[in-house]
Amino acid sequence: MSRRLTGKVVIATHNAGKLAEMRALLAPFGIEAVSAGDLGLPEPDETGTMFAENAAIKARAATEATGLPAFADDSGLCVDALDGAPGIFSARWAGPTKDFSGAMARIFSELDRRGARDRRAHFVSALVLAWPDGHTELFEGRVFGDLVAARGSAGFGYDPIFRPDGHDRTFGEMTADEKHGVDWQRGQGLSHRARAFVELSRACLASEA
Ligand code: IMP
Repeated sequence: MSRRLTGKVVIATHNAGKLAEMRALLAPFGIEAVSAGDLGLPEPDETGTMFAENAAIKARAATEATGLPAFADDSGLCVDALDGAPGIFSARWAGPTKDFSGAMARIFSELDRRGARDRRAHFVSALVLAWPDGHTELFEGRVFGDLVAARGSAGFGYDPIFRPDGHDRTFGEMTADEKHGVDWQRGQGLSHRARAFVELSRACLASEA
């Protein structure tokens, strides 16, 4: 049985792009969100081997440090012809300087090195909501599409090279609202994070305002 979330919650991320997206997704539900970065919480080591494990590590660290319920998303881009890489290492491929132009170039150079023509890829978001008493909930969302030469400067990370199925534009060419494509009435979303959020909202949030 899922537990309802009300009041204040910590968003356990130090990633400004993800924070903005998660705040926007929470906004209709009257939840007060404060970020782990704003609270000066340390970033735990992501030692898991799966998205869900890393999301749980981040959410549990934030709830234990603050005594408040905490959300964490662990996400990444999985490229079929690279056996799912960069996957859970998506942030790490950009290095300490968060050079995503370099990370995107590396994807295409690895594909070339393998002589791979297949450009199929998907984003995954594992969203964990953790409470101080140890209760946790996990929701996952995926969006499938193709990799193309980088286009657009909206969004963050690998958005410019990802064109979701059924769309002509990359995530980097979409507004945040278009990328999320959330329709709360129909319970649908486009981005991996929005899809995970729609599931979470059904289970744990009151109806949107
Ligand atoms: P982490 O979940 O903080 O470990 O990092 C996930 C990484 O995956 C981000 O730094 C981005 O590189 C990438 N990523 C996750 N979601 C998105 C997205 O919506 N657009 C573009 N890149 C993303």
